[in-house]
Amino acid sequence: MENKFQAVVIGGGPGGYVCAIRLAQLGIKTACIESRGSLGGTCLNIGCIPSKSLLNLSEEFHKVKNLSSKGIDIGDVRLNLSKMMKNKDKAVSILTKGVEFLLKKNNVTYFKGTGSFKSKNEISIKDDKQKETLIKTDKVIIATGSVPVSLPGIEFDENVIVSSTGALELKKVPKKMIVVGGGYIGLEMGSVWSRLGAEVHVVEFLDHITPGMDREISNEFMKILRKQGINFHMQHKVEKIIKSNVGAKVLTKDKDGNKKDFECDVVLISVGRKPNTSGLHLEKIGIELDEKKRVKTNKSFRTNLDNVYAIGDVITGPMLAHKAEDEGIAVAEIIAGQSGHVNYDTIPGVVYTTPEVASIGKTEEQLKEKNIKYKIGKFSFMANSRAKAIDDTEGFVKILADEKTDKVLGAHLIGPHVGELIGEIGVAMEFGASSEDIARTCHAHPTFSEAVKEAALSVDKRAIHS
Ligand code: FAD
Ligand code: NAD
Repeated sequence: MENKFQAVVIGGGPGGYVCAIRLAQLGIKTACIESRGSLGGTCLNIGCIPSKSLLNLSEEFHKVKNLSSKGIDIGDVRLNLSKMMKNKDKAVSILTKGVEFLLKKNNVTYFKGTGSFKSKNEISIKDDKQKETLIKTDKVIIATGSVPVSLPGIEFDENVIVSSTGALELKKVPKKMIVVGGGYIGLEMGSVWSRLGAEVHVVEFLDHITPGMDREISNEFMKILRKQGINFHMQHKVEKIIKSNVGAKVLTKDKDGNKKDFECDVVLISVGRKPNTSGLHLEKIGIELDEKKRVKTNKSFRTNLDNVYAIGDVITGPMLAHKAEDEGIAVAEIIAGQSGHVNYDTIPGVVYTTPEVASIGKTEEQLKEKNIKYKIGKFSFMANSRAKAIDDTEGFVKILADEKTDKVLGAHLIGPHVGELIGEIGVAMEFGASSEDIARTCHAHPTFSEAVKEAALSVDKRAIHS
């Protein structure tokens, strides 16, 4: 195999593999190293894809069970969890193999093994039999992603005390599941197991879920999830988790010091993720980390070393697959002498629960903090004809526009298919659109997207259907 490259990408996740493909497209001789044994990173193997598969299948199960109220009588509906898990695994396998094909198609050399720095231009790759290969390179892109964090003194066993990885692989539906942390993972995985029959309790440190999200949406989100049967214990701190033969006891304290203990069969700890730099030997070449142990980069994704770059979850910014991908493309273009860039003001965030929640740009809280004057347009799915037709009317669209210029500054949606609707607002924001621009764009009828148009009309207090 070749051992001299112009660029080597360490990590084959959405940041790394996309970067490697773009580098190769730009005529740069590229290698990509991945230690997991399959490409696609956290996202394809143990993140976005398996969780979305289970979210979809558990939602189908839940819907089918409730069809008789809609005039569709069916027989006994039973869960076959191992078959459901096989379906999820099939989706993962197809996609990860697809990425391997894409690397091959683009002439990227794929090394299976763990990469580490020998020097700033030499990378050692150790395979699972500890056989070492040394390669030389002009540029290196660190794209080693992130790993889950636990609570102090508590270790994942991925059986009773699980991270998202264990929560995607449970062998049976827990009777009672405690979810520590009401963020993206806790609410998505909590929804999956709740729909499949578990009693789910979310223990959250703050007084609201999904920190950073527009507060009005976050409040509505919690209200809807409560209605679905998920229990929330806000402003509770986990003090200790004691394992027993049947499961675990979670000891918590609320803000006033009152103790509450939860017996359960599974505890999911979803309190965030940390950058993964272990084993890279960054100290050997003097790469600087920031206060959160992320690889420190400048606007061009360059570290303190000239030829070493970093992207994705291992650097600052939201830990999202599309953010990592866009950084992968941008850094490849910068390395090729072009002017790649990422617009961090228009990175959407989507929670794939039912209903979905989607956000882009500034929240009301951020605008207030920055003293920016804004107008609000809102439209409820209750008044959207498509939503009414299929009886899926929970949620609303909220658009925030600059008071003077009408430029769209942010949009926050909760409701059916809003993870898709946010794309339209992203394009509008990239083009610097005003809410008037969205309002004057013809939207097909009857579609959920008409709620976006109506919310834009509502910025100027002229929504038609409310
Ligand atoms: P990663 O995907 O973590 O990839 C890094 C890769 O580098 C890994 O495969 C790792 O094995 C490899 N690696 C590490 N060290 C080495 C080394 N020394 N040598 C070789 N290889 C190495 N984001 C979304 O946008 N949408 C979602 O719906 C979503 N759902 C998620 C659900 C879950 C349960 C989780 C855990 C995450 C989810 N995310 C989602 C986040 C998303 O997965 C990450 O933001 C994304 O994968 C980051 O991409 P990355 O390329 O930076 O890192
Ligand atoms: P998160 O940051 O989304 O949420 C963590 C939650 O845990 C927060 O609400 C926080 O207040 C709470 N918390 C922190 N410490 C706590 C403690 N000691 N006790 C109780 N609560 C505590 O983190 P996550 O859910 O673990 O997800 C990690 C990252 O993965 C996310 O930030 C997101 O970027 C990514 N992700 C994205 C998606 C998606 O895009 N749909 C899905 C899953 C994961």
